[in-house]
Amino acid sequence: MRAHIVGGGFGGLAAAFFLIHHADVPGESITIYEADRQMGGGLFLAGGPKTGYNMPGSVFDREFRCTFDLFQSIPSTGTPSVSVTDEFFAFNKQNPFNDRAHILDRNGNIVHGPRFGLTLRDAFALARLSLTPEPRLDGRRIDEFFSPRFFTTEFWLLWSTIMGSLPQHSATEFRRYMNRFLYLFPDLSTMRRVLRTPVNQHQAFIEPLLAWLRARFVRVRTGAFVHDLGFAASDRLTVDRLEIEQGGTASSVPVEPDDIVLVTLGSQAEDLSSGTMTEPPLPNRAGRASALWERLAQDYPGFGNPARFFGADQISDSRWVIFTVTTTGTEFIEHLSKLTNSEPGIGGLVTLKDSSWLLTLTIFHQPEVIGQPSGTYVWWGYGLYPERNGDFVKKRMSSCTGAEILKEALRHLRFDQILERVLADSICIPCDLPYVNNIWLPRRSTDRPPIVLPGATNLGLIGQYVELQQPRNPVTDCKDRAAPTPRPMIGLKLPFEKMLAGDAEAAFGLVPLPLPYVGDLLGDVVPIEFIGRPCGLLIGPGHHVVLIEISHRCPLFIYDLCSAGHGGRRALTSPASRMTVSPPSAPTIIAAYSRVLMVVPNASVQTDRHDLRAA
Ligand SMILES: Cc1cc2nc3c(=O)[nH]c(=O)nc-3n(C[C@H](O)[C@H](O)[C@H](O)COP(=O)(O)OP(=O)(O)OC[C@H]3O[C@@H](n4cnc5c(N)ncnc54)[C@H](O)[C@@H]3O)c2cc1C
Repeated sequence: MRAHIVGGGFGGLAAAFFLIHHADVPGESITIYEADRQMGGGLFLAGGPKTGYNMPGSVFDREFRCTFDLFQSIPSTGTPSVSVTDEFFAFNKQNPFNDRAHILDRNGNIVHGPRFGLTLRDAFALARLSLTPEPRLDGRRIDEFFSPRFFTTEFWLLWSTIMGSLPQHSATEFRRYMNRFLYLFPDLSTMRRVLRTPVNQHQAFIEPLLAWLRARFVRVRTGAFVHDLGFAASDRLTVDRLEIEQGGTASSVPVEPDDIVLVTLGSQAEDLSSGTMTEPPLPNRAGRASALWERLAQDYPGFGNPARFFGADQISDSRWVIFTVTTTGTEFIEHLSKLTNSEPGIGGLVTLKDSSWLLTLTIFHQPEVIGQPSGTYVWWGYGLYPERNGDFVKKRMSSCTGAEILKEALRHLRFDQILERVLADSICIPCDLPYVNNIWLPRRSTDRPPIVLPGATNLGLIGQYVELQQPRNPVTDCKDRAAPTPRPMIGLKLPFEKMLAGDAEAAFGLVPLPLPYVGDLLGDVVPIEFIGRPCGLLIGPGHHVVLIEISHRCPLFIYDLCSAGHGGRRALTSPASRMTVSPPSAPTIIAAYSRVLMVVPNASVQTDRHDLRAA
């Protein structure tokens, strides 16, 4: 049996790891085909200290469990005696974010208020969306659920600049993120629970994983674009060849019925193009990463709808321009640290809320690149609205040179007095990513195909554009070697797919709510076990006794134990007693959940307690 993996991003590399580590597939039986010259897909690293680095930012949390499970077996590049996972957590423990100025207005004032500006009505709307079953959100947008005011709150600014969501984006995705990242709420502003790689993601994750795979003789073919799959003549879906273009030469790789073919559909980094200090990124519309998906979707039913995510019509709602600044000066870093009252490297994100491009900046912990010369510093930023004209540079961000982007950022910060010196000692590399945010575009459940299509015998689909309807624990599925051939790839989901809310819980267990905060507001929370799962019993003022559970089916269940008699009784096992509870009516759930959400802003819990109770 051979395994052919199309796509050398994290998904493809992780798939190879799982095949070797959990399914005992010999490394030499695995080939990875990558269209680009560099492996790593969206987790790229380009440039250097003299020409300027180019890289994505890095935002994680502790619940990327599949990723950390994988990297527990991979030695770090810098310290091979330590695993990548251990290195990651040690770094984050030593250098936790402490963002003291996450949002700045045009006058350099910090924007931070009680409850992140959310009203009870907003919380109610958040609860309604979070508790609406996904089938009812199919194709719908976030802004259908909230008032225009909601999108001006501090909460929305924090959320959208950390997660990437826009009002016109998918309500389904928003719901998944909400439920997946609910526990981050109290610390959204300080980013205390947000984690990042010790150095850029390419060197922190891709390079060590690739080294591990190469040491096991996995074949890696870069510059190899798989433009088509051939299928055997049958009523089932059995791949019998890969059609490849490499170095201008076309070739065909035969695939046996008991081989496995895992195909990455698309890439958020498709058509990435970078500029220089003096040149804007030139449009690149090769469309290679999604070409195979389009080809397959044209000819075979069930492959979904790539046009929902890729193509000229999608760019305006999915584009970011990112920029990486390599500097030999310290003035910018010193000024920003002073303005934000945050030390470099732990200050987290700084969003310039009045900038038309909605600029967000961060100073990396130095060095951000292994081999970065001393005396060189790297910082980073991006614009969530790069198609708007700038406020000082009257151009779209996507048409700007690195120098123009740097000017716009510095003028917003009112750093005019250091502008020329910063321009002189910095190299700002702009990078246009037309599809980086397309995972957020409104979609229907059928727009992304499942991991294994009905009738597929040796083909599995991986990546950001696969719908996980019945996620499973990849570890156990991959270990199930007694199963028929395609079995190892069933449930072989990507580590990054856990960004999709609910999946981490589904695959691995439960994510606890920030129960102490809930308790602070509404009363005592008594930890209990409910059907073998950790839950909280929340004893609120008045009539509220609420059971909070996060489970894999619906990431958040809240049962009001006082509303018995609505049918559908369920057994509650507490350490002390057995009780019978019934699911509450929808309005009761929503009211309870709204109150839970009102606990969001840690700073305001005490002061607002009475108001909220009254509300
Ligand atoms: C700017 C940016 C910032 C990000 N920040 C974060 C972050 O902070 N935290 C986080 O969790 N995630 C982040 N992501 C998302 C992360 O990059 C993706 O989740 C991850 O890269 C997905 O891995 P993947 O393998 O599915 O896809 P990709 O990394 O996109 O890789 C897919 C690869 O497959 C190749 N390919 C596709 N089709 C073919 C074909 N037919 N033949 C040959 N090769 C093919 C492509 O060339 C590409 O290299 C970020 C992404 C970007 C672009």
